[in-house]
Amino acid sequence: MATNENHVKMLILGSGPAGLAAALYAARAELAPLLLTGAQLGGQAALTYTIENYPGFPEGVGGAQLGELFQKQAERFGTRVEFDTANKVDLSARPFKIQGDAGAYEADTLIVTTGADPVHLNVPGEDTLLGRGVSYCATCDGAFFKDKKVVVVGGGDSALEETLFLTRYATSIAIIHRRDELRAGAILQKRAKDHPKISFIWNTVVTEILGTGKVESVRLKNTQTGEESTFETDGVFIFIGHTPNTQLFEEQLKMDSHGYIEADMLMRTSVPGVFAAGEAADPHFRQVVTSAGMGAAAAIQATRFLEAESG
Ligand SMILES: Cc1cc2nc3c(=O)[nH]c(=O)nc-3n(C[C@H](O)[C@H](O)[C@H](O)COP(=O)(O)OP(=O)(O)OC[C@H]3O[C@@H](n4cnc5c(N)ncnc54)[C@H](O)[C@@H]3O)c2cc1C
Repeated sequence: MATNENHVKMLILGSGPAGLAAALYAARAELAPLLLTGAQLGGQAALTYTIENYPGFPEGVGGAQLGELFQKQAERFGTRVEFDTANKVDLSARPFKIQGDAGAYEADTLIVTTGADPVHLNVPGEDTLLGRGVSYCATCDGAFFKDKKVVVVGGGDSALEETLFLTRYATSIAIIHRRDELRAGAILQKRAKDHPKISFIWNTVVTEILGTGKVESVRLKNTQTGEESTFETDGVFIFIGHTPNTQLFEEQLKMDSHGYIEADMLMRTSVPGVFAAGEAADPHFRQVVTSAGMGAAAAIQATRFLEAESG
């Protein structure tokens, strides 16, 4: 790994809400942070058409536009933004070494905000109808489905939690599950099964999402009989898991069994000087506002870490 080309006090991996908020705080602390954007400038938030639950925008704000505003504010105070993706890190000694596709960097502190990706069904129509009825987040998009009919794909705890949240808005919710029993805990199962708005379609998978400009129906296949059918719906909520983008840190940072980086309340990881924020370290909240808050906290803590060292 090449070294010493680009030595910075603070390097931030990721340009989602957590990374850009961390950059703003680090820049305002005059640390001239370097931020590597990764492939998705603005993070997951930039993939969505409108964000209606980020404070300060009573009429909502475009996902990509919010990312641009975050970036502009971070750059105004001296953040350097590089369009690069880290492909290797060495956290065994400081300064930490980060190898990107475009350059090599050294950093006294590192803030990891590489986020997570919702697991996709990988069926036709899923990508083209994203934000037009296809969603991976009830908290984000539930309100768009007031008095509408939706389906949910999944059977774990988060699928049922999100389904129960959707009952505030939708008139009916059909949970489509590939098996004939759910993985979710007993209490959640009982609440879902007792709810008058929720029904179940067992032993079934979605093979295609259909609609012109917006979701109109899903094509289903029974896993036992192979029988195919079409089910009309206004929305498809997919809750089949999230994958944190943390493979880069395997065997270097402590993680839970699902690959989320373990960080304490001060955003400290198992390696002193490395902090983690946002969805890379958060399987619970998964929101722009919570991720940005964690990013700010990580930068404040990393600043204190550097201050303590310099006496
Ligand atoms: C379709 C959709 C709609 C959503 N709608 C809403 C909503 O309305 N309201 C809401 O609050 N939340 C919403 N969310 C959730 C919200 O977008 C996320 O909670 C938030 O973006 C997480 O921020 P993050 O910074 O932790 O990670 P992410 O946004 O996932 O960003 C991760 C960043 O890390 C970068 N990266 C990854 N690997 C590397 C690497 N090796 N090197 C450098 N960089 C790397 C990526 O390029 C990206 O920039 C939505 C999510 C999706 C997918």
